[in-house]
Amino acid sequence: MQPNYRRCVSCRQVAPKADLLRIVRVFPSRAVQLDGMGRSVYLCRKPTCLELAQKKDRLGRSLKAVVPPEIYHGLWQHLSASDTIVGSTASKGSVVESGK
Ligand SMILES: [Zn+2]
Repeated sequence: MQPNYRRCVSCRQVAPKADLLRIVRVFPSRAVQLDGMGRSVYLCRKPTCLELAQKKDRLGRSLKAVVPPEIYHGLWQHLSASDTIVGSTASKGSVVESGK
């Protein structure tokens, strides 16, 4: 693997880091965020990969942490921002769960 290449947690394909979405479990709070320093996992900018990651909890398993719904919501927004063909995700409201 080349230095700036990372593997998608869903499809296992390797892509340049800049082309992937990054999800980070920051230290020491263990909170899951979309930026920061800590243990990170990567995901393609593809609805199929994000959907799979969400369904199978690939991010949570890789990070050994609970991934809040807001994170997925943010990732979907990243996808729709970088890809104008997305249309069906608009119906998904943000689900807020209690507790952190
Ligand atoms: Zn992928």
